[in-house]
Amino acid sequence: MRCRPRHTRAAVLGAALLLAGCGAAPHKTAATSTATAGQPAPRCSGRPTIAETEGPYFKAGSPARTSLLQTGMRGTRLVLTGRVLTTRCAPVAGALLDFWQADASGSYDNSGYRLRGHQLTDAGGRFRLTTVVPGEYPGRTQHIHVKVRAPGKPELTTQLYLPGEPGNEQDAIFDPSLLMQVRDAGSGKVATFDFVLG
Ligand code: FE
Repeated sequence: MRCRPRHTRAAVLGAALLLAGCGAAPHKTAATSTATAGQPAPRCSGRPTIAETEGPYFKAGSPARTSLLQTGMRGTRLVLTGRVLTTRCAPVAGALLDFWQADASGSYDNSGYRLRGHQLTDAGGRFRLTTVVPGEYPGRTQHIHVKVRAPGKPELTTQLYLPGEPGNEQDAIFDPSLLMQVRDAGSGKVATFDFVLG
């Protein structure tokens, strides 16, 4: 059974208040830029990626897979590539990324593992996720949840967003530092995002 999430205004505001203390201090380091999967990667600022609320729909035990697409799945295809980096912009190999998201109509699969999956970064700290653009649901703009775990680092739980979505400005949890770089590619979209672990 899939259920439609319900975020009350109070819950969203509460989460926003919780998030107020989650910003990490910026670090000044030399910027770097490399290519990921044939497209320019975002420049590394060395600033740790901010944490955001886990929300109510995380499920442990997701399958290991880089594509969340399944037969008959509706929605706009999205290929997200990026890296996991240190604050010195060094790649983190073997970091675990656990993604979960709503489907194109804004529903989570809370009984199975549809649109949930984890993977490890390669020797260059790179990952690649194939999925669909998530739908909005009441109180939330489009977003992808993720946990990033790497040895010797605190676990990062955060969310990624799409630029230019009208719902971003109405979403109390939205933060522009978590915007993916997105462009159209054929009938789908390609996106990049680098995580920096503090
Ligand atoms: Fe969510």
